[in-house]
Amino acid sequence: MGASEDHIHIDSDLHAAVSARHTLAGTFGLVGDLPTHARTGCGSSVRYGGTSTDPEHVTCPPCRTYAHRRYTESAEYVVRIAGTPGTPPELTAQAIRARSEYLELARRYGGEPGGAPAARTRP
Ligand SMILES: [Zn+2]
Repeated sequence: MGASEDHIHIDSDLHAAVSARHTLAGTFGLVGDLPTHARTGCGSSVRYGGTSTDPEHVTCPPCRTYAHRRYTESAEYVVRIAGTPGTPPELTAQAIRARSEYLELARRYGGEPGGAPAARTRP
């Protein structure tokens, strides 16, 4: 077992391929094969089973930092899009909800696995 397999990582696309698979399956009844390996936030390639979408399960520190940054960027992005003139009010409301969810995920990835705060300092 390599060093990258000692941790649970996050898929570098934040599991978008799996979400798309679920959407296709739910909409059209199509089910594609799950990917066997994933490129991770820390730059490794691991078995897909070695990744998680749950902040409490991702143990790889660089992947946690990566996910924190990506979800923070996503929160900023949806706010920018919602601020575009002519955006329908319902889309703005969805963007505000998405921003809250992204910020919550960013906060959870910013801490230690299991929910402890990340701001521990060592003497
Ligand atoms: Zn990692």
